[in-house]
Amino acid sequence: DRIGYAVVGLGRLAVGEILPALAECKFSKIAALVSGDRDKALKLARQYGVKTESVYDYASYDRLASNPDVKVIYIVLPNSMHADFTVRGARAGKHILCEKPMATSVADCERMIAACRSANVKLMIAYRSQYEPMDRAIAKMVRDGALGPLREFVAGNSQNTVDPQHWRHKKALAGGGALPDIGLYCLNAARFMSGAEPEEVFATTSRVPNDPRYAEVEAGVHFILRFPGGFTATCVSNYASHDSRFLRLQGPNGWVELNPAFAYNGLKLRHSRLQDKHNTVTDIEFPPANQFALEIDHMSLCVMQDRTPHTPGEEGLQDQRIMEAIYRSAETGRAVRLSPPPGPTRGP
Ligand code: NAD
Repeated sequence: DRIGYAVVGLGRLAVGEILPALAECKFSKIAALVSGDRDKALKLARQYGVKTESVYDYASYDRLASNPDVKVIYIVLPNSMHADFTVRGARAGKHILCEKPMATSVADCERMIAACRSANVKLMIAYRSQYEPMDRAIAKMVRDGALGPLREFVAGNSQNTVDPQHWRHKKALAGGGALPDIGLYCLNAARFMSGAEPEEVFATTSRVPNDPRYAEVEAGVHFILRFPGGFTATCVSNYASHDSRFLRLQGPNGWVELNPAFAYNGLKLRHSRLQDKHNTVTDIEFPPANQFALEIDHMSLCVMQDRTPHTPGEEGLQDQRIMEAIYRSAETGRAVRLSPPPGPTRGP
């Protein structure tokens, strides 16, 4: 039977992407909804065939413990709420799939990992791009040596956010501005595609003068990550620029790019290499795939087969450590050294 999910927080991502993806999953299904807005939840419950008694609010959330239809809780709340809802969900005996960024502090990430470990439940962070076939193909090309030893990664992820009242612009709920929300995609892709961990970071942040959206959080962030062997990643992310999403990885034998990158669909992959002494550029086509469905089904297979997810809590913790170093570098104007993670951050 398919694995049942409780979706917590019925905002834009949950309603627009996650519920529709769950409905087309092979190994996963919607079993419960948790929302502060009962009318909205009941309407979605009718639409997706969820029983009325499986609709909860944030206070009755802990009663998921006695709902046998729910095996996994998918947390789609504002960033700073991820930690408490993960800890409560683990105590209710459920596996946790948590949206990115994992949390808003290293301490909260560690608390989430510890709670899931002691409850003996799985914890996966929803890094959808790591389940997206083109992103995976690039990571494999790198592993197979198609580009030679990596020299540089360049990426940008920007969008023009509009509502200054939204939680994304409140430090306490979001943890930061463009960096944890969209710059994180560049950071995570640099690590995932290279298979390496940065040793040092240098960064700067920017605001837009007198713009109320950036009273509490940065509009823009630039960061340079230094990896072993001279490989570098240069990333830019901005909340006050027109939509722009791209990445390129370069080595002595070729480059590969996604442009657009990071989007829900419509990604385009191009590969350049030397062939018979000529530079060739090839578009590589992929059949369309729902990366949210692939991500969710991965979690379900891990539950069915008792495996560690490919993007466990340790992967979210490592990004949070690096993001805190990015802010420290921006504040001090100096490069910040990074120690290696204590163990592997990714499962198979
Ligand atoms: P959203 O604002 O549309 O939805 C958040 C939901 O949380 C809303 O329904 C809101 O009512 C509810 N909520 C509960 N308590 C709240 C509080 N105190 N303040 C504000 N809202 C509260 O946000 P979203 O875009 O759906 O983002 C939700 C999470 O998903 C975030 O962690 C975000 O980073 C992540 N996200 C991931 C992707 C992705 O591609 N993986 C894309 C978008 C968002």
